[in-house]
Amino acid sequence: MVNDAARRAPAAPQLTHSGRWTAATQREVLSTVARHAVELLSGPDVPLLKECGNPECTRVYIDRSRGKRRQWCGMESCGNKIKAAAYRARRKTAVTSAG
Ligand SMILES: [Zn+2]
Repeated sequence: MVNDAARRAPAAPQLTHSGRWTAATQREVLSTVARHAVELLSGPDVPLLKECGNPECTRVYIDRSRGKRRQWCGMESCGNKIKAAAYRARRKTAVTSAG
């Protein structure tokens, strides 16, 4: 499916006085996305691809962090949610144990 989409004509960006403008049909958009997928999945970043550690998240990201220990697609989107939930769980356990 990806290869079929990548074989088709992609969207063609155009230069305008205000910058770059791209108008595209759905097929052209799919082709552009498929071409990016082919480049990414056959390129040198494949070993750096990771799935987000948030079980409710479906994002995949490229881990360019030092030590390659990144766990989330983004702190704002997932990392802070998981850390806050873990903090609430620890706090609840501490309150329950103390009381
Ligand atoms: Zn995520």
